[in-house]
Amino acid sequence: MTVLVFLDPAHPAGRLADAASPTILATDQGVTRGDGVFESMLAVNGVPRKEQSHLDRLAASAHIMDLQIPAEGVWRAAITTALAAYVRDAGDEGQAVVKLIATRGPEGANVPTAWVQVAAISPALAQQRAQGIEVILLDRGYDSDVAARAPWLLLGAKTLSYAVNMAALRHAHNLGADDVIFTSGDALVLEGATSSVLLAHVSDDSGVPVKRLITPNLDTGILPGTTQGALFAAAKEAGWELGYGPVTPADLLDADAVWLISSLRLLAPVNTIDRQGIGVPEVRAQLTEELSVLLAQTL
Ligand code: PLP
Repeated sequence: MTVLVFLDPAHPAGRLADAASPTILATDQGVTRGDGVFESMLAVNGVPRKEQSHLDRLAASAHIMDLQIPAEGVWRAAITTALAAYVRDAGDEGQAVVKLIATRGPEGANVPTAWVQVAAISPALAQQRAQGIEVILLDRGYDSDVAARAPWLLLGAKTLSYAVNMAALRHAHNLGADDVIFTSGDALVLEGATSSVLLAHVSDDSGVPVKRLITPNLDTGILPGTTQGALFAAAKEAGWELGYGPVTPADLLDADAVWLISSLRLLAPVNTIDRQGIGVPEVRAQLTEELSVLLAQTL
């Protein structure tokens, strides 16, 4: 089941709508141009996770796009209404996906359309966590410094224009892989189609034990991951060294473990990249377990 709650000035707690009936004008620029922003966050037993981080990133994305969206308190009220309706109607469903969506609204109206959508989480994500994923590297076609040079590309904003990300996933599936890691034109590692990239080392170049987590630096035009941010904060407390890339494909192949991480899938260990195995499976499994415990503390 899907619950929809529209942000509507006439309904301070949000307006519940029937997800099976038409609710958006065909002229809405979110529909006609993919002109809008969104967030996907996890809710566990009716409680949203990392809500503030998602609201902050939604506001940042809207700012990058010059899009006026409702204030944070209005979103919070609609999220509460939507989750209450979902828990009431779906029962104790455990984990759910909460999407926050805001578009530039119908053509000519200059009023954004904004809503919250709650639905069940895909069972495929639990499978990815448990079994790991096969990944291919795909060239995104931009250099890693393009975000600053060409801000109109909206890199770093979570816009509704995800057709490219979905095409990359279809391409991976056609090649028998589960997901992709994008690389820049100048051959740096960027991010997954819907995830951040994380790698770990448990020994340094001379074999001395270390605990080091690395993720690509944000000025490469990638989305700042709320999961990566939360995990880094928890890992720091637990004594891990943290680093921000530049990360190359060779760094990934050389790592003891690589993961794609995001709010919904949490940590999906990468078994292979372009069919080359990453690290030792037992070490990967043990690190995944250790980091999953840390991540669960942040939920
Ligand atoms: N990068 C991209 C392109 C994404 O779409 C996402 C999540 O949807 C992420 C990274 C990870 O973000 P988060 O950890 O906030 O879910």
